[in-house]
Amino acid sequence: MSISANTRPLVARYKHDCRQCNLIGQLLHEDIYYCTNEGSLILRDGDAGGEYASFPVEVARLVAKGQQDMSYPWLVAVTLFDHAQATDEQVLVYRGEVG
Ligand SMILES: [Zn+2]
Repeated sequence: MSISANTRPLVARYKHDCRQCNLIGQLLHEDIYYCTNEGSLILRDGDAGGEYASFPVEVARLVAKGQQDMSYPWLVAVTLFDHAQATDEQVLVYRGEVG
């Protein structure tokens, strides 16, 4: 998967109230967080409290290996997590750019 770093700090699209969460990237419709408190990756797609999905990183890695449509955002999330660990960069990834 190739990803490109955004040159400006990302701005979250949706409200998210966990102070231990770091915004590590975005898809077209999702803010992607890594929560240092829970060790989990979070995909948020709305302002309401429940408008998110989350998995522990190692579970997200398994989900990312699936072939379903729902696997794709987790593949991106895991890739951005690894990228963030290596570089501290935030990145923006639009659906279709990732191969
Ligand atoms: Zn959090």
